[in-house]
Amino acid sequence: MQKKINELHTFTFNAFSEQTYLLDHGNGEATVFDPGMSNVAEREYFDSFLADNGLTLVGCLLTHAHLDHVMGANWIASKYGLLPRLHPSDVPTWDMAEKSAQLYGIPMDPLPSRGEDLGDQGSIVECGKFNLEIRLAPGHCIGHVVFVCHEHEFVIGGDVLFNGSIGRTDLPGGNASTLAHSITEQLYTLPDSFEVHPGHGPSTTVGKEKAFNPYVNSEGTGMIQ
Ligand SMILES: [Zn+2]
Ligand SMILES: [Zn+2]
Repeated sequence: MQKKINELHTFTFNAFSEQTYLLDHGNGEATVFDPGMSNVAEREYFDSFLADNGLTLVGCLLTHAHLDHVMGANWIASKYGLLPRLHPSDVPTWDMAEKSAQLYGIPMDPLPSRGEDLGDQGSIVECGKFNLEIRLAPGHCIGHVVFVCHEHEFVIGGDVLFNGSIGRTDLPGGNASTLAHSITEQLYTLPDSFEVHPGHGPSTTVGKEKAFNPYVNSEGTGMIQ
């Protein structure tokens, strides 16, 4: 799908095909979302992308703290001096990430310290010309947030709503009806034209998912699974 803006760059990283996003602020600075770069090749690719585009990384934001979304957090902290910012309600997920990596048998750097907590529902994170509204969208995990840019009509959505699917709800902190509620209240209330850029798989729009997503029913009251 052609993105509405040219400033949002997508990288597919690690064994989970997680999508890391880089938002170019338009002033030489950029913010990374869900840094999942997991090995030297992925890290060098990301680093060269910044250099080739003359970008200085100034922020590191997380939709949530599942291991596939934080595997590069230590590297970002040591390479760029930026600590990941998470919503405090997702700290239980953060606290489990390293243990989850051990369970999956996947090597993972220890997590760095966390940066300043993300603000609550409705607060705004400024990324240069892009104002991103934080919306709480639990259900995939306990403290998931999505970042909504109203002016440019896009969402950095993590693992809540996928193109034709939804985030899994069988992991600790997951809950299917909570996820349905998050999707209908926090995403389906946006205009149909808004693009959703998810943590896995192709991007989509609010209108397309409202019309065709088989996992959230048309009344928005629950799941059809
Ligand atoms: Zn996840
Ligand atoms: Zn994920």
